[in-house]
Amino acid sequence: MLLFLVLVGWVCQVWGGPLEKQKTSEIQQEDGYINSLKTQSPLPINGEIADEVENEAVQEGDILLPKDRNAVSSLWPKVGVKVAVPYEIDSDLKDRIQDITDAMAMISDKTCITFHRRTVETDYIYFAHGLWCVSFIGCVGGEQRILIGRACSVGNIIHEILHALGLYHEHSRFDREQYISIMSENIKPGREKSFLVRDGNTLGLPYDLESILHYGSNYFSRNGEPTIVPKDRSVMIGQRTHLSVLDVQKIRKLYKCVR
Ligand SMILES: [Zn+2]
Repeated sequence: MLLFLVLVGWVCQVWGGPLEKQKTSEIQQEDGYINSLKTQSPLPINGEIADEVENEAVQEGDILLPKDRNAVSSLWPKVGVKVAVPYEIDSDLKDRIQDITDAMAMISDKTCITFHRRTVETDYIYFAHGLWCVSFIGCVGGEQRILIGRACSVGNIIHEILHALGLYHEHSRFDREQYISIMSENIKPGREKSFLVRDGNTLGLPYDLESILHYGSNYFSRNGEPTIVPKDRSVMIGQRTHLSVLDVQKIRKLYKCVR
């Protein structure tokens, strides 16, 4: 009985205060599909939506997020020294189970984050089929969807899981101007918000051009020209193959992993 109560009461840990209730009207709705991310209404977080274009075929990461954060206040619960994230995978994604578990393993291998099949937990990630790769930021409570589009790679899935763990895009850091230039004239109209700076917690870590959370050079270009240019022209940005050294440190610091 005690175990049951503990499990039922297992909710997102809140770091730095409770999240504000969000009026639906304050949330920018785009493309109509964002409501499908979450089953409960109204949406419980102070958020906005950001989109990313991975390449011509993939649109990645329409995300709902608290404003002004590089890492958010709602973390997944820790059990001892490990963070335990419950998940379910929709039956529509039967052919993507390996990719999803590979993505989770790449995170677990280097951090204290663990993933397990949901039993009775109330807060959990639900991987569902979608047109794009989409995630909320942080643990938002209840069934929290990550949408996996057909073209989402293992790297895209890692990127979305990192959003769900509480991390936002690297290029939104307040100190980005030292490392990249935003070419506003090349940004597709209406997508400017995806390039906003957010004053937030950078976890005391340096800017990471190699981050799996960094946009690529041509994201949301309206004319094929770059929207982001690294100051160091020899650097490639927007990789979606692996966690960078600093990505690992971000997760470990955010969740205070002890080893
Ligand atoms: Zn993203």
